[in-house]
Amino acid sequence: MSDAAVNGAASTAPLLVAIDGPAGSGKSSVSRVAAARLGFGILDTGAAYRSLAWACLETGTDLDDEAAVLGLLGSWRYSITLVGEQRVEVVLAAGSSAAHDITSAIREHAVSGQVSRVSKHPEVRERLNAMFRDIVADSGLPGVVIEGRDVTTVIAPDAPVRILMTASAEVRAQRRAGELDGLSHEQVLADIAARDAKDALVVDFFTPAPGVTLVDTSDLDFEQSVQAVVDIVRAAQDAAEESE
Ligand code: C5P
Repeated sequence: MSDAAVNGAASTAPLLVAIDGPAGSGKSSVSRVAAARLGFGILDTGAAYRSLAWACLETGTDLDDEAAVLGLLGSWRYSITLVGEQRVEVVLAAGSSAAHDITSAIREHAVSGQVSRVSKHPEVRERLNAMFRDIVADSGLPGVVIEGRDVTTVIAPDAPVRILMTASAEVRAQRRAGELDGLSHEQVLADIAARDAKDALVVDFFTPAPGVTLVDTSDLDFEQSVQAVVDIVRAAQDAAEESE
Protein backbone atom coordinates (compact mmCIF):
# COMPACT_ATOMS: atom_id res chain seq x y z
CA MET A 1 0.00 0.00 0.00
CA SER A 2 2.78 2.42 0.85
CA ASP A 3 5.54 3.53 -1.43
CA ALA A 4 8.12 5.80 0.20
CA ALA A 5 10.47 7.64 -2.12
CA VAL A 6 13.68 8.06 -0.14
CA ASN A 7 17.34 8.83 -0.63
CA GLY A 8 20.32 7.41 1.23
CA ALA A 9 20.90 3.98 2.74
CA ALA A 10 21.56 2.57 6.20
CA SER A 11 21.88 -1.05 7.30
CA THR A 12 20.38 -0.71 10.82
CA ALA A 13 16.86 0.29 11.83
CA PRO A 14 16.43 4.07 11.67
CA LEU A 15 16.59 6.05 14.91
CA LEU A 16 13.04 7.19 15.51
CA VAL A 17 12.27 10.69 16.76
CA ALA A 18 8.53 11.00 17.50
CA ILE A 19 7.04 14.48 17.65
CA ASP A 20 3.41 15.15 18.63
CA GLY A 21 1.53 18.37 18.89
CA PRO A 22 -1.60 20.31 17.97
CA ALA A 23 -2.13 22.35 14.78
CA GLY A 24 0.13 25.40 14.60
CA SER A 25 2.50 24.31 17.40
CA GLY A 26 5.29 24.48 14.84
CA LYS A 27 5.78 20.73 14.78
CA SER A 28 5.72 20.37 10.99
CA SER A 29 8.11 23.16 10.02
CA VAL A 30 10.36 22.66 13.06
CA SER A 31 10.48 18.89 12.52
CA ARG A 32 11.40 19.35 8.85
CA VAL A 33 14.35 21.63 9.56
CA ALA A 34 15.50 19.63 12.61
CA ALA A 35 15.42 16.43 10.52
CA ALA A 36 17.49 18.03 7.75
CA ARG A 37 20.03 19.28 10.30
CA LEU A 38 20.31 15.80 11.83
CA GLY A 39 20.58 14.12 8.40
CA PHE A 40 17.31 12.27 9.06
CA GLY A 41 14.16 11.77 6.98
CA ILE A 42 10.83 13.33 7.91
CA LEU A 43 7.48 11.56 7.87
CA ASP A 44 4.52 13.96 8.13
CA THR A 45 1.63 11.76 9.28
CA GLY A 46 -0.87 14.62 8.95
CA ALA A 47 -0.14 14.65 5.21
CA ALA A 48 -1.50 11.09 4.98
CA TYR A 49 -4.75 12.02 6.75
CA ARG A 50 -5.05 15.09 4.56
CA SER A 51 -4.42 12.99 1.44
CA LEU A 52 -7.06 10.52 2.47
CA ALA A 53 -9.57 13.35 3.02
CA TRP A 54 -8.59 14.80 -0.37
CA ALA A 55 -9.09 11.38 -2.00
CA CYS A 56 -12.55 11.02 -0.40
CA LEU A 57 -13.58 14.45 -1.67
CA GLU A 58 -12.17 13.71 -5.12
CA THR A 59 -13.96 10.37 -5.45
CA GLY A 60 -17.22 11.40 -3.74
CA THR A 61 -16.60 8.98 -0.84
CA ASP A 62 -18.56 9.78 2.35
CA LEU A 63 -15.89 10.83 4.88
CA ASP A 64 -18.12 9.86 7.82
CA ASP A 65 -18.63 6.30 6.54
CA GLU A 66 -15.74 4.24 7.95
CA ALA A 67 -16.38 1.23 5.70
CA ALA A 68 -16.41 3.46 2.61
CA VAL A 69 -13.15 5.18 3.67
CA LEU A 70 -11.56 1.78 4.32
CA GLY A 71 -12.71 0.66 0.88
CA LEU A 72 -10.99 3.63 -0.68
CA LEU A 73 -7.84 2.93 1.37
CA GLY A 74 -7.75 -0.56 -0.08
CA SER A 75 -7.21 0.76 -3.58
CA TRP A 76 -5.19 3.96 -3.19
CA ARG A 77 -1.39 4.14 -3.15
CA TYR A 78 0.27 6.78 -1.03
CA SER A 79 3.74 8.11 -1.61
CA ILE A 80 5.69 10.75 0.33
CA THR A 81 9.24 12.01 -0.12
CA LEU A 82 11.08 11.60 3.17
CA VAL A 83 14.22 13.53 2.28
CA GLY A 84 14.50 17.01 0.78
CA GLU A 85 11.43 18.87 -0.37
CA GLN A 86 8.32 17.01 0.76
CA ARG A 87 6.13 15.83 -2.08
CA VAL A 88 2.90 13.91 -1.64
CA GLU A 89 1.36 11.79 -4.40
CA VAL A 90 -1.55 9.41 -4.48
CA VAL A 91 -2.86 6.93 -6.98
CA LEU A 92 -6.61 6.66 -6.50
CA ALA A 93 -7.58 3.36 -8.09
CA ALA A 94 -5.94 -0.06 -7.96
CA GLY A 95 -4.20 -0.84 -11.22
CA SER A 96 -4.13 2.80 -12.30
CA SER A 97 -0.81 4.47 -13.00
CA ALA A 98 -2.17 8.02 -12.78
CA ALA A 99 -0.41 9.66 -9.83
CA HIS A 100 -1.85 12.93 -8.55
CA ASP A 101 0.65 15.38 -7.06
CA ILE A 102 -1.39 16.82 -4.18
CA THR A 103 1.44 18.46 -2.22
CA SER A 104 -0.30 21.86 -2.26
CA ALA A 105 -3.93 20.74 -2.56
CA ILE A 106 -3.87 18.99 0.84
CA ARG A 107 -2.96 22.28 2.59
CA GLU A 108 -6.05 24.08 1.33
CA HIS A 109 -8.87 25.08 3.66
CA ALA A 110 -11.29 22.75 1.84
CA VAL A 111 -9.23 19.78 3.04
CA SER A 112 -8.20 21.14 6.49
CA GLY A 113 -11.84 21.66 7.37
CA GLN A 114 -12.80 18.05 6.50
CA VAL A 115 -9.83 15.97 7.62
CA SER A 116 -11.08 15.28 11.19
CA ARG A 117 -13.98 13.40 9.59
CA VAL A 118 -11.61 10.69 8.31
CA SER A 119 -9.12 10.77 11.21
CA LYS A 120 -11.87 9.94 13.74
CA HIS A 121 -12.28 6.37 12.45
CA PRO A 122 -10.35 3.87 14.65
CA GLU A 123 -9.74 1.27 11.94
CA VAL A 124 -8.60 3.91 9.46
CA ARG A 125 -6.10 5.08 12.09
CA GLU A 126 -4.85 1.52 12.61
CA ARG A 127 -4.33 1.03 8.88
CA LEU A 128 -2.47 4.33 8.50
CA ASN A 129 -0.35 3.60 11.58
CA ALA A 130 0.74 0.28 10.06
CA MET A 131 1.56 2.13 6.84
CA PHE A 132 3.68 4.68 8.77
CA ARG A 133 5.65 1.91 10.51
CA ASP A 134 6.31 0.23 7.13
CA ILE A 135 7.48 3.48 5.54
CA VAL A 136 9.95 4.09 8.39
CA ALA A 137 11.22 0.49 8.44
CA ASP A 138 11.76 0.50 4.65
CA SER A 139 13.33 3.97 4.54
CA GLY A 140 16.97 2.88 4.63
CA LEU A 141 17.76 6.11 6.49
CA PRO A 142 19.88 6.55 9.65
CA GLY A 143 16.98 8.26 11.38
CA VAL A 144 13.43 9.44 10.75
CA VAL A 145 11.53 12.21 12.51
CA ILE A 146 7.92 11.14 12.51
CA GLU A 147 5.48 13.89 13.37
CA GLY A 148 1.76 14.01 14.06
CA ARG A 149 -0.71 14.16 16.86
CA ASP A 150 -0.54 10.66 18.34
CA VAL A 151 2.97 9.70 17.33
CA THR A 152 4.50 9.57 20.82
CA THR A 153 1.68 7.55 22.31
CA VAL A 154 0.26 5.30 19.59
CA ILE A 155 2.34 5.17 16.40
CA ALA A 156 5.79 4.99 17.97
CA PRO A 157 5.42 4.69 21.78
CA ASP A 158 8.84 2.98 21.99
CA ALA A 159 10.74 5.60 19.99
CA PRO A 160 14.03 6.49 21.75
CA VAL A 161 13.18 10.19 21.46
CA ARG A 162 9.63 11.42 22.04
CA ILE A 163 8.68 15.08 22.11
CA LEU A 164 5.35 16.87 22.66
CA MET A 165 5.48 20.30 21.02
CA THR A 166 2.84 22.79 22.16
CA ALA A 167 2.09 26.51 22.03
CA SER A 168 -0.81 28.64 23.22
CA ALA A 169 -3.87 28.81 20.89
CA GLU A 170 -3.18 32.54 20.30
CA VAL A 171 0.40 31.93 19.19
CA ARG A 172 -0.65 28.98 17.03
CA ALA A 173 -3.31 31.07 15.29
CA GLN A 174 -0.80 33.83 14.61
CA ARG A 175 1.59 31.37 12.99
CA ARG A 176 -1.09 29.74 10.86
CA ALA A 177 -2.45 33.11 9.70
CA GLY A 178 1.01 33.87 8.33
CA GLU A 179 0.82 30.69 6.22
CA LEU A 180 -2.75 31.11 4.95
CA ASP A 181 -3.59 33.93 2.57
CA GLY A 182 -6.93 35.66 2.82
CA LEU A 183 -8.03 34.38 6.22
CA SER A 184 -8.26 36.75 9.21
CA HIS A 185 -6.64 36.02 12.58
CA GLU A 186 -10.13 35.40 14.02
CA GLN A 187 -11.00 32.90 11.27
CA VAL A 188 -7.74 31.02 11.79
CA LEU A 189 -8.17 31.02 15.59
CA ALA A 190 -11.72 29.70 15.18
CA ASP A 191 -10.50 27.05 12.72
CA ILE A 192 -7.76 25.94 15.14
CA ALA A 193 -10.12 25.88 18.14
CA ALA A 194 -12.68 23.83 16.16
CA ARG A 195 -10.05 21.39 14.93
CA ASP A 196 -8.50 21.05 18.43
CA ALA A 197 -11.93 20.28 19.86
CA LYS A 198 -12.73 17.66 17.20
CA ASP A 199 -9.28 16.04 17.35
CA ALA A 200 -9.29 16.05 21.17
CA LEU A 201 -12.22 13.62 21.06
CA VAL A 202 -9.81 11.08 19.56
CA VAL A 203 -6.28 12.00 20.72
CA ASP A 204 -5.00 13.86 23.80
CA PHE A 205 -2.19 15.95 22.36
CA PHE A 206 -1.81 18.50 25.16
CA THR A 207 -0.54 16.35 28.03
CA PRO A 208 2.83 14.63 27.59
CA ALA A 209 2.69 10.88 28.25
CA PRO A 210 5.31 9.49 30.71
CA GLY A 211 8.78 9.65 29.16
CA VAL A 212 7.78 12.32 26.63
CA THR A 213 9.70 15.63 26.67
CA LEU A 214 7.55 18.77 26.53
CA VAL A 215 8.74 21.58 24.24
CA ASP A 216 6.51 24.67 24.62
CA THR A 217 7.32 26.96 21.68
CA SER A 218 5.03 29.86 22.77
CA ASP A 219 8.06 31.96 23.68
CA LEU A 220 10.59 30.41 21.30
CA ASP A 221 11.36 31.67 17.81
CA PHE A 222 11.73 29.22 14.94
CA GLU A 223 15.49 28.74 15.28
CA GLN A 224 15.24 28.22 19.06
CA SER A 225 12.52 25.62 18.52
CA VAL A 226 14.64 23.73 15.97
CA GLN A 227 17.64 23.87 18.29
CA ALA A 228 15.56 22.54 21.20
CA VAL A 229 14.66 19.45 19.14
CA VAL A 230 18.20 18.94 17.82
CA ASP A 231 19.61 19.22 21.37
CA ILE A 232 17.17 16.62 22.71
CA VAL A 233 18.06 14.18 19.89
CA ARG A 234 21.83 14.71 20.28
CA ALA A 235 21.57 14.22 24.07
CA ALA A 236 19.72 10.93 23.46
CA GLN A 237 22.36 9.85 20.93
CA ASP A 238 25.15 10.69 23.41
CA ALA A 239 23.40 8.80 26.22
CA ALA A 240 22.93 5.77 23.93
CA GLU A 241 26.62 5.82 22.94
CA GLU A 242 27.71 6.03 26.59
CA SER A 243 25.61 3.04 27.56
CA GLU A 244 27.06 0.89 24.73
O1 C5P B 1 -0.74 17.88 11.34
P1 C5P B 1 -1.83 18.35 10.41
O2 C5P B 1 -2.50 19.62 10.87
O3 C5P B 1 -1.41 18.39 8.98
O4 C5P B 1 -2.94 17.20 10.51
C1 C5P B 1 -4.12 17.28 9.79
C2 C5P B 1 -5.19 16.43 10.47
O5 C5P B 1 -4.88 15.04 10.37
C3 C5P B 1 -5.39 16.71 11.95
O6 C5P B 1 -6.27 17.77 12.17
C4 C5P B 1 -5.96 15.38 12.45
O7 C5P B 1 -7.34 15.32 12.20
C5 C5P B 1 -5.29 14.37 11.55
N1 C5P B 1 -4.12 13.68 12.12
C6 C5P B 1 -4.33 12.68 13.04
N2 C5P B 1 -3.27 11.95 13.52
C7 C5P B 1 -2.01 12.23 13.12
C8 C5P B 1 -1.78 13.28 12.20
C9 C5P B 1 -2.86 14.00 11.73
O8 C5P B 1 -5.47 12.42 13.41
N3 C5P B 1 -0.99 11.50 13.57
